Amino acid sequence: APVPVITVDGPGGAGKGTLCKALADALQWHLLDSGAIYRVLALAALHHQVDLEAEEALAPLAAHLDVRFAAHEKELKVILEGEDVSGEIRTQDVANAASRVAAFARVREALLRRQRNFREAPGLIADGRDMGTVVFPDAPVKIFLDASPEERARRRMLQLQEKGINVNFGHLLAEIKERDDRDRNRPVAPLAPAQDALVLDSTSMSIEQVIEKALHYARERL
Ligand code: C5P
Repeated sequence: APVPVITVDGPGGAGKGTLCKALADALQWHLLDSGAIYRVLALAALHHQVDLEAEEALAPLAAHLDVRFAAHEKELKVILEGEDVSGEIRTQDVANAASRVAAFARVREALLRRQRNFREAPGLIADGRDMGTVVFPDAPVKIFLDASPEERARRRMLQLQEKGINVNFGHLLAEIKERDDRDRNRPVAPLAPAQDALVLDSTSMSIEQVIEKALHYARERL
């Protein structure tokens, strides 16, 4: 039988990262953070001064991207060309750049095999936008985790405040909506639930409730 995959797709800030870590912990499966790959690509483009609109230059950069994930004290470090960029890829600027480079068909194509290589026994939790629709269409369990833009902006603001960073709520909300629009309306692999996905709206759920629902759903279907 093929190695099982649980896909978790949805917009940024819906809680996918937390849910995926909890699922990977509970099942002792591997984890793919596909967004980190797009973020690293965007960072590489910025470092090498590749135009974020130049699909013909971005595609080979994606094909040859020297990115590694390394486990470090329960955290997954992201290494670009030997340098730890785990912190650097989490900024709003890199997120916005990632969603721009992610809109190109040739870029996505160049990253496809790299993502599928994460599928290893005993199983994979795949976090992204198109995990259930494009990368792992045969996954036995698909979850689409959503939340209102306002709630996602609120959660993001709290996260930043915990780090001592103060941001303007309206500004954050506008950025979230802009990135959503780009991800949902692009012609290739747009953000949308797979037909056979369980759609969970986490707007008024706690993270514990989300984890419990998802785990229950997954165990029923595996
Ligand atoms: O999930 P994360 O916020 O790290 O993703 C950053 C950006 O990368 C997203 O806004 C999206 O444009 C892109 N992405 C994608 N497909 C994925 C994962 C991320 O297009 N599977």
